Amino acid sequence: MGYSIAIDGPAGAGKSTIARLTAEELGMIYIDTGAMYRAVAYYFVKNGLCAEDEEAARKACKNINIDVTYENGAQQIILNGENITSGLRNEEIGKMASGVAKIGCIREKLVDIQRKLAKKADVIMDGRDIGTRVLPDADIKIYLTAGVAVRAKRRYDELTAKNISCDIKEIEKDIEKRDYEDMHRAISPLKRADDALLIDTSDMSICQVVDKLKTIYGERKNG
Ligand code: C5P
Repeated sequence: MGYSIAIDGPAGAGKSTIARLTAEELGMIYIDTGAMYRAVAYYFVKNGLCAEDEEAARKACKNINIDVTYENGAQQIILNGENITSGLRNEEIGKMASGVAKIGCIREKLVDIQRKLAKKADVIMDGRDIGTRVLPDADIKIYLTAGVAVRAKRRYDELTAKNISCDIKEIEKDIEKRDYEDMHRAISPLKRADDALLIDTSDMSICQVVDKLKTIYGERKNG
């Protein structure tokens, strides 16, 4: 088992940006587990499947094969032999991901992949159940959060910067719905692990959060 940092938290708290930058600075591998749930969601959307259909979910569990590779340090998701990484970061897939994330056999399959990846290298892994389920013995556990209005504004800025028109109130509603689903599902709901450090990023810049993580890492490493 390598060194591991687990980062959990609600949608839009900045987990992926912070985890990726911190991993770069510390020379660790960044593992984005949300992308794996999104890959399953992509399969469901492409095949017109519904996350509530148990029979379809069982079949999908058997038919889905996910590989995680790296290109110039960037995580790539290969679904049944096809690199689908560029098709994962949109609202439709995000919403479906929350639906498929409730399915037990899907979670088991992805948790297994995630644990195998963490065995091979020093990793920073982000998601919803990393500190509570995937890596309960992680060396450092962080619960990253921010107020919902702040998170909605960040997502809004991200989308408008890409010339995607959107409504901030709609984004806020979607985030609240996704958080609710993630926090209230029966299997591995999103919650702060008892031993996770809470960081509220509402009034922090990305740099400040990365610096804080580096400081925590340095303190833990030195004793
Ligand atoms: O982090 P991201 O927005 O890409 O995650 C998409 C969805 O995947 C989340 O809303 C959540 O339902 C699910 N997820 C999960 N467990 C993880 C990572 C993501 O349930 N470890």
